[in-house]
Amino acid sequence: MAKLLEGKPIAEKIKEAIKREISERALKPVLASIQVGENPGAAAYVKSQLKLAESLGIDYQLHKLGQDTTENTLIDFIRKLNTEKTVNGIIVQMPLPPNIEYKKISQFILPEKDVEGMHPVNIGKIVFGTAKIVPCTAQAVMELLASINLDLYGKEVVVVGHSEIVGKPLSLLLLEKFATVTVCHIGTSKAGKLDSHVKKAEVLIVAVGKAGLIKGEWIKEGSVVIDVGINRIEGKIVGDVEFEAAEKKAEYITPVPGGVGPLTVTMLMRNLAEAAKSQ
Ligand code: NAD
Repeated sequence: MAKLLEGKPIAEKIKEAIKREISERALKPVLASIQVGENPGAAAYVKSQLKLAESLGIDYQLHKLGQDTTENTLIDFIRKLNTEKTVNGIIVQMPLPPNIEYKKISQFILPEKDVEGMHPVNIGKIVFGTAKIVPCTAQAVMELLASINLDLYGKEVVVVGHSEIVGKPLSLLLLEKFATVTVCHIGTSKAGKLDSHVKKAEVLIVAVGKAGLIKGEWIKEGSVVIDVGINRIEGKIVGDVEFEAAEKKAEYITPVPGGVGPLTVTMLMRNLAEAAKSQ
């Protein structure tokens, strides 16, 4: 039976380190958070970020813009925050109203204030292995792997999902550790080859958003399984991996909820502390 790889205890240690750093360096980190419209998902993220920020001594400044905000108005707002010396980090909450394209507006956040690590400059630095600010979920997965002292050198690692926010940056971080990385996506599934790749995985990381996509019987004996997926099924949150069957074969597996999730928001605050330090 697999050991549970829980995010909370790791997050607690990282939070202590952030708190220590903030107090030792007498930092006063300010995170400007922009929420456009009244989306319940965005409101929930704001609530959990605010709670964590307060507990770490971070000043969380929420800016609520109306649902009818245009892309240009939002860009002007971001530009204003870029110039404010006291603001160390800027985050734009998702989801945004349909008239605003995240990919476009995220490029207007100064790279040094881009605490989500999604600016092309920060993404580019991952390629060179010099990134200080890394997309939060990808970083959370790396922390989970580090917590079990897993040597990734030469390991068969399969990443399912190739989004800009998770799969792509994560694959680069894994390459940096000399893992042999296979990235699967919708094309792999459509070609009927997902199972054959997953079966080889000594480390399997899944970030798709489809409950039950990864069958328990595909899991390699003794592997490490990180399930990033979040799916709401009949009022319950589940991941993308068939958990009950998978935990019988894996050595380590993340629970959903309670695996990657608790670490992601902590990584946001670590990015902010990093930004505050370097400004
Ligand atoms: P996305 O929609 O941007 O990307 C989905 C990826 O899955 C794409 O690469 C797509 O090609 C692939 N895909 C879709 N159907 C597939 C199939 N049948 N077989 C194989 N691949 C398939 O999603 P995202 O933003 O990367 O999020 C992925 C999941 O991770 C979601 O459930 C999201 O809620 C979750 N997530 C969790 C956290 C966390 O902190 N735990 C953070 C971010 C995202």
